[in-house]
Amino acid sequence: MRVAVLSDIHGNRPALDAILARLPSFDALWQLGDIVGYGPYPVEVIAQLERLGASGVRGNHDAAALGVIGTEWFNDDARTAVEWAARRLTEPAAAWLSTLPETRLHGAFTLVHGSPRDPTWEYVYTAPVARACFERFDTSHCLVGHTHVPLVFREAGGGVEMLAPRDGAVVQLDERRTILNPGSVGQPRDGDPRASAMMLDTDAGTATWYRAPYPIEETRQAMREARLPARLVDRLGHGL
Ligand code: ZN
Repeated sequence: MRVAVLSDIHGNRPALDAILARLPSFDALWQLGDIVGYGPYPVEVIAQLERLGASGVRGNHDAAALGVIGTEWFNDDARTAVEWAARRLTEPAAAWLSTLPETRLHGAFTLVHGSPRDPTWEYVYTAPVARACFERFDTSHCLVGHTHVPLVFREAGGGVEMLAPRDGAVVQLDERRTILNPGSVGQPRDGDPRASAMMLDTDAGTATWYRAPYPIEETRQAMREARLPARLVDRLGHGL
């Protein structure tokens, strides 16, 4: 089975369209949360995911837009944007979003937004954090988002090795357990502004990363019209 794995789309419809056009055909789509927040198209992105039959989990921005968690831990720009998204959500969009759990299992994969020990908030950026997280899920592999950085953590002889997959990188999944991050569709933060995603081939046992350029100016213009914070508009062009 071929699975497209997307995370942190953040209401960026042009980025979502571009990465979907770039990916080879897939049998299923899994998303790792933060569908809304930051970007100007929360309802359109939810509608597209619903059309594609996406399965997945909710992120901290999704939970805040639904009022499930408060916004006191968000910085000012993030809070402004998530409150804007909350006002934009239609009833059907909010209903679909509210069905998403914090954790979901698909065969050998555990899906979370942040980490298996704190699905909403924890960032898995480093090998020591990943090492602690390996003890907190039971499947062979765990899919995480939240950092907006494509990363692989793999158990290796009692330790944990870390890889930073670039466009076209293929990681063979074998008996070593992994934590895999597809990067962010709608707001990449690894210095590359192109939309990022990952394809799993569960028969071949591979994970492959993809990047897609998208019309950033279209998203920026829609953000300006929505009066979303200028800093959020700027950062899309830097990929940081
Ligand atoms: Zn995010």
